[in-house]
Amino acid sequence: MVEEFKEISEQYSIAEAIKEAQRCLQCKVPGCKKGCPISNDIPLWIEELSKGNFGNAMEIINTRSNLPAVCGRVCAHERQCEGNCVLGKKGEPVHIGKLERFLADFDCEAGWRHENIPEKTRGKVAVIGSGPAGLTIAGDLSRQGFAVEIFEMSPEPGGVLMFGIPEYRLPKEVVRHEIKKIKNLGVTFHTNVTIGKDLTVDDIFNQEFDAIFIGTGTGRPKKLDIPGIQHPGVRQAIWFLRRVNLYNNGSVSRNEVVVSEGDKVAVIGCGNTGIDAARTALRMGASEVTIIYHKGHEQMTALNSEYEDALKEGVKFLWNSSINGIEGSEGNRLRSITVMTENGEERRPIDWVIMAVGSSPASRIVSTTKGIEVDEKGYVITRDFPYGMSTRKGVFAGGDVTNRPATVVHAMRDAKKVAEGIAQYIDAVKLMDSINQK
Ligand code: SF4
Repeated sequence: MVEEFKEISEQYSIAEAIKEAQRCLQCKVPGCKKGCPISNDIPLWIEELSKGNFGNAMEIINTRSNLPAVCGRVCAHERQCEGNCVLGKKGEPVHIGKLERFLADFDCEAGWRHENIPEKTRGKVAVIGSGPAGLTIAGDLSRQGFAVEIFEMSPEPGGVLMFGIPEYRLPKEVVRHEIKKIKNLGVTFHTNVTIGKDLTVDDIFNQEFDAIFIGTGTGRPKKLDIPGIQHPGVRQAIWFLRRVNLYNNGSVSRNEVVVSEGDKVAVIGCGNTGIDAARTALRMGASEVTIIYHKGHEQMTALNSEYEDALKEGVKFLWNSSINGIEGSEGNRLRSITVMTENGEERRPIDWVIMAVGSSPASRIVSTTKGIEVDEKGYVITRDFPYGMSTRKGVFAGGDVTNRPATVVHAMRDAKKVAEGIAQYIDAVKLMDSINQK
């Protein structure tokens, strides 16, 4: 792995973690818990942590989250738990994310096992996609006695956690450890299997699965209509981030990743993916990286902490500006872009443009099976009873493919509700079958 991609944020020592946990006021009505999308019982585990009972603290976290080492690193703490901590009103909130990360990493090093895993007698569930939604469904249902098998198109599971979020924010070893914990719950993983190509939804049902969950996220980038956008010097942020992650784990060579030493890069879009792409381009050696955003700073969807880190690293921002034209050269690189700024139109020399303007679901699964309806943008339509079921009986969907969640933890919250829906559905079908057989 390239040195520049080493994780940035520093880890607490044991003494520091306990001291930080002792700052918690144990509020009767804890804002932190209210601010957590998965209602993590934060004061309860912080109390255990403050007494040095790390195992108990971890057990409490495990009841709500399958991915604590991930959440401790990439959750939007400033908008969620920490943003609602009472201590933050006048000073520093309790650093809940860093404490969660400390516990999860400590647990990983200690190699504790806290769980009695039930027999898999309640039914069989196939999960398509192994990002945060798929892993959450698999963990929750496996703990409830369902046999779960995950189908993943990539050579390694983890989805956006493995290939979307850069190494310096979320080390891949951390993701691998979280996946190992889910494997230890009895979940089976099938990698290099593309549903819609190697297998269809009907093939899966023919393997006697009771329900199928689609958690394939959004793999099709949105396109802007700009002259020159077809040039190979324009790349999608999700492609670029995936390539760099593959390069970092040794799967592709340096010349298969765009952006070289001294290049000038423009990133279009200012969500977290745009910021990730910009900071990643700097780490790949770009001499100048500018984020171009058509709205103002206050309207960016990226987290402020991510924005500030990007600023510190030297990323430049052009607010209220849009790109009007892309001028290519003969090779893969670009020559320049034309940008409309608040001061009028200007032409800037540029080598690469990275597009980070959002994405929508790919249609591979729904186009190869009958009965799964999508809305006009391609998002799978689901119902509330049982929660998360699509228009096809027994096929559920959650995470980004349904257009509800916005972040990793929101995808997890949604997936937890879908897991309940799947359990209710399978139990009801089996009950009806047993009544009909009598
Ligand atoms: Fe502790 Fe802050 Fe939560 Fe209160 S809001 S219980 S001080 S973490």
